[in-house]
This record gives sequence, C-alpha cells and structure tokens, in this order.
Amino acid sequence: MRMSGNPVSDNPRPAPVFDWPASDLIGTDRRGLPPAGAEGDVDAVRAVLQEVLDPEVPAVSVVELGIVREIAWHAGRLHVGVTPTYSGCPATETIEAQIHEALVIAGYPDPRIERRLSPAWTTDWITDQGREKLRAFGIAPPSGARGLHGEAPAVACPQCGSEHTEPVSEFGSTACKALYRCVSCLEPFDYFKCL
Ligand SMILES: [Zn+2]
Repeated sequence: MRMSGNPVSDNPRPAPVFDWPASDLIGTDRRGLPPAGAEGDVDAVRAVLQEVLDPEVPAVSVVELGIVREIAWHAGRLHVGVTPTYSGCPATETIEAQIHEALVIAGYPDPRIERRLSPAWTTDWITDQGREKLRAFGIAPPSGARGLHGEAPAVACPQCGSEHTEPVSEFGSTACKALYRCVSCLEPFDYFKCL
C-alpha cells in the first residue's frame, strides 16, 4: 500500500487514526456533524458520511463517490463496508480513517470499517449529485462512452461544456485523473478517469 521508496517499512501496521492531521480529516466543521442515530437508522449514518469528503477531490463526499457499499449493524455494532476507488490508490487508508473518525465524533462508539474489494468500484457508482459537484469543481466527471476500439471517450470541458477537448497527459494532479485541455476555451482541466 505504501508508495515505493518509503523507508518506514519495518512497521506493517497501518497508521493509527489519531496520527492524521486533524485539519485534513473532515472537510467541514467537525462540530457540525449530524448526531448519531439509533441502531438500524441507515439514513443517519449516511448523513454523517455525507460530510466526509474525498481527500483527492474535496468536492465530493464518500457517499457521492459511491464507495460506501453497506451500512449495517451486527450485534449492536455499526459496520460500514467501503470499496476503494482505484486499487493501490494511496488515499484509501486515509478515506477509511476519515470515515471511522467522523462516525466516532458523531457518536457511534466503535464503528467497524470493512474494506470490500469485490465487486470492484466503478465510476458508474458516482451519484448524479457527485457528478455535478465534480463538474462545478472543474473536474470533468467520468464518461462511460468509449469508442468501439476502446479509444478515449469524448470528455466535455467542465468550464464551457465543449466536447472539443484533447488529452494532454495520462496523469493529472493525481493518478486517478488525466490531464485534458479544451480546444474551445483553451483551459486545461482534470478528467476523472473512467473505470
Ligand atoms: Zn472549454
């Protein structure tokens, strides 16, 4: 999971939650988190997770990203199933830690965050609201429309809406995005790669 070249390899355990810088954990005011609901109140849990933003794209929540796959209680303990976006994406552990901390702050005593690798996450799981927020943030949301031979899909410019755009680099600001440029308005922008 660690990026290569990291000298801290003799400690295989994930960093404890409290090691994360507090200011990076939750995008909004932590005191503004909705209160915990009763056992079985899935909507109350979802309302808390709606406040947990993707560290790489702080415009969308983990709910809008579609990575929260299950909210359930087993023997009175809250379980949340989370599917990472891109395998090997270094943000995965950060997201899981954020979800855990937000739930604890909201009042769930000992939430269990379970990583679900199957079925694999797909950009189809990003909600319509999430796609709108990506666009408003200046990131072209994933387009499922690939050509017959797998060629890059038409990507609409998030600034002007033109589909006259071209890929500049396979990698944008993070590995999960590609860098595009709009031929119409000349603005460069990130494209959230389709999976
Ligand atoms: Zn444009």
